[in-house]
Amino acid sequence: MSNITENLNTIHEKIDSCATAAKKESSTIQLLCVSKTKPIEKIIEAYNSGERHFGESYALEADEKIQKLKELGYKDIAWHFIGPIQKNKTKYIAKDFDMVESLDRPIIAQRLNEQRPDDLPPLEVLIQVNLSEEEQKFGCSVNEIDNLVETVKNCSKLRLKGFMGVGKDTPDLKVIEEEFIKLQGIFLKYQKTIPEISVLSIGMTHDLDLAIKHGSTEVRIGTAIFGAREYNTAPFNQEKVAFIGGGNMSSCIYESLTKIYSPEQIMVSGPHLEKLQKFKERGSGITTDNLEALKFAEIIFLGVKPQILTSVLEEIAHSQESLNHKLFISMAAGFKLSSIEKILNTKKIIRIMPNTPAKIGLGVVAVTYDDEVTEKEKQNLNVMLKNMGLIVEGSESQLNVIGVIAGCGPAFVYRFMEALVSESKKLGISNDLARKLVENTVLGAVSLVINSQDASLQSLREAVTSKGGTTFAGLTQMTEGHFEETMHNTVTASIERTNEFEKMF
Ligand SMILES: *Cc1c(COP(=O)(O)O)cnc(C)c1O
Repeated sequence: MSNITENLNTIHEKIDSCATAAKKESSTIQLLCVSKTKPIEKIIEAYNSGERHFGESYALEADEKIQKLKELGYKDIAWHFIGPIQKNKTKYIAKDFDMVESLDRPIIAQRLNEQRPDDLPPLEVLIQVNLSEEEQKFGCSVNEIDNLVETVKNCSKLRLKGFMGVGKDTPDLKVIEEEFIKLQGIFLKYQKTIPEISVLSIGMTHDLDLAIKHGSTEVRIGTAIFGAREYNTAPFNQEKVAFIGGGNMSSCIYESLTKIYSPEQIMVSGPHLEKLQKFKERGSGITTDNLEALKFAEIIFLGVKPQILTSVLEEIAHSQESLNHKLFISMAAGFKLSSIEKILNTKKIIRIMPNTPAKIGLGVVAVTYDDEVTEKEKQNLNVMLKNMGLIVEGSESQLNVIGVIAGCGPAFVYRFMEALVSESKKLGISNDLARKLVENTVLGAVSLVINSQDASLQSLREAVTSKGGTTFAGLTQMTEGHFEETMHNTVTASIERTNEFEKMF
């Protein structure tokens, strides 16, 4: 008997005994096998032991696995999405899943409703309730539930089936038990008015007995079935990757990549071996021979400056290596897809433009593809880059604009900050304090914007401006000093420079 089958037997025995203790039929408690980070082979093992309900937490990883399993004929699996939901991932979740357990806000309900394909039955949803209020990041707070329930009722392609909760991660079982009691109360209350409500999803590996004691109808078990999670290996990403050029941006992508690829899958080439040591120390191959890196990998990041890219591309084009199935990803600004295709005499090219905050995971990465890049390759790229920040897809003509706003934008903001620091200093504030003041003001202002998606920038500005007041006086000077015109000229100049670069290559 395989490990997984054995583990499943143990879990079912445990569910049975907890159900008996709670005077319930064990058939009223669904086991959800949480397979996040696990390869499809393990899912198939659990499937062969009779399991049909699987839970996933990461939309892109899940999409890849679900498609593959469907292709292999595993079509009767009920897929449950249980992870935090990002707005830009709802389209995958809407098409792949049978139930979403982690619904936590109206905008997500609306997007899932709009994006649920017409040929699929309505998407079942559970509202994830934040049981410990401020301590947990995820879930709908208790006083927002009514509002979310109303939203779901108005979504014709969603069906509200119940509630989900994650018990606090604490050895103090009393705390977890109180949370489960609270959620059971909520479940019973809404069930009175909404008869379709039948699912109370509580209980994980460490707290399943408490959950069943307090009315769980579904326990979500990962570790006890599949073992510890495999965050650093990516069985769904078996390709090899090369970086030609090991500079700043390559390093930044490398960091994001090694969260899902193992370093042995990566080779970095560059003219100076000593500059590549840091990759070697992590376990990746290094070489001064670009063609060795090219031969090694199916996915090749071109991380050299635009001025050097032509010669690198010619070197690749003149090698004997078949380029047909290789994917090239260029980071060179101003170097068009068509220019790369022409020199390489092949397609399947992607251009990306990350900005510098990508180094700390808060970047914007602009992406554009040629028409031979497949959906799967696009999704794969999303997974590779996701630790760098927001990924924005656009047409190639938009890429220059996105590149200027996101790429030059940090410098524009720094210039603005420098001016504020300098003015504070003139008014007698020390350099250190001035910097702190400005840093935190900008951070606070931006965070407020991000947390107020329903408010326009104008209304946020107006909220700090009373007519005839102090802010008003300052802003009037910005208007009279032609601030908008200055910004127009600033952006235009950067875009024109990009266009000039494009003509050079
Ligand atoms: C990962 C996860 C689980 C499974 O947790 P285990 O402790 O491995 O059983 C259950 N629920 C949610 C929401 C999860 O993210």
